[in-house]
Amino acid sequence: MKIKGFWFSRSMQLLMVAALCLGGQVSADALDAKAVDTALKAAYSKYKNLKDGANADYIPALAKVDPKVYGIALVTADGKVYTMGDLDTEVSIQSISKVFTMALVMDESGTDAIMNNMGVDATGQVFNSIVAIEQYQGQEMNAMVNPGAITATSMVKGQSYDEIWSKILAKYSDFAGRKLTVLEDVYESEAATNQRNQALAQLMYAYGRIEKNPLEATDIYTRQCSVGVNAKDLAMMAATLANGGKHPITGKQVVNEEHVPEILAVMATAGLYDDSGKWLYTTGLPAKSGVGGGILAVSPGKFGIAVISPPLDAAGNSVRAQKAIADISEALGGNPYDVE
Ligand code: GLU
Repeated sequence: MKIKGFWFSRSMQLLMVAALCLGGQVSADALDAKAVDTALKAAYSKYKNLKDGANADYIPALAKVDPKVYGIALVTADGKVYTMGDLDTEVSIQSISKVFTMALVMDESGTDAIMNNMGVDATGQVFNSIVAIEQYQGQEMNAMVNPGAITATSMVKGQSYDEIWSKILAKYSDFAGRKLTVLEDVYESEAATNQRNQALAQLMYAYGRIEKNPLEATDIYTRQCSVGVNAKDLAMMAATLANGGKHPITGKQVVNEEHVPEILAVMATAGLYDDSGKWLYTTGLPAKSGVGGGILAVSPGKFGIAVISPPLDAAGNSVRAQKAIADISEALGGNPYDVE
């Protein structure tokens, strides 16, 4: 890292990140249980009857999910769990999966593999843009948007479809702290309608970003998007990132802690589609949303939070989830840029 003529060593960088994480208003230890409960209850009831937004319907199975599903979970970096509303219903993880496949690729091949192959800049185009690939010849395809994400899936090492898929599902399960499974109806629905993603993958293959089997990579990507998660699963995954990649309850180091700052940076850049800048401006939180209705967000060193609520706004982000997470984080001093 070079800042104004100074080179910082890797350990110095880690110290700087740690200082940033600890420099906010409260550490995980200091998060007051009553304050967290109050914040969750307030956000839950404030937005419970909100009717704005609509389920995604370009994947037919998503249109059938009950729009009233609304669950909130917050897990502190030291493993305390707070919940409100629906924790039983699983929705498909969709785009949120992109974070965890990228984490797997970083662990296997290093962070430079992501930087050098598909890049980490926002495309400024919609998440499944063909124009963006053409514009940048397959570079600058952030792994949070489809061309970069399918490319990341293609970079997972393995000799067969099954080997690659097992590694991906195992990684997600480690992040969640329980064994996750695929919602087969969602997988089948998307597999029958994912021609555009197949085209994106073929184009990334043509530009040499995907090395082989673009259609297999698209299918594995479709399967990863169909993994079922509830609000608590997503909050656990976020809390693992908030805790330097170590699951706060199982204690397992799920991703190399040196990669966590890069993972969070990519999320901050493009986690909420075309509203990523707006989201970062208002909350300061690295986050990722999915068209299944989930959003997870990370307050480094403090907590992971997630909300599930299927109706989406025009940018493709859950309406209730954005509002609830923003309110709760504000109440708990979650913005890492807001140092008193
Ligand atoms: N599986 C979805 C797709 O590729 C994920 C999109 C999303 O959640 O943004 O279209």
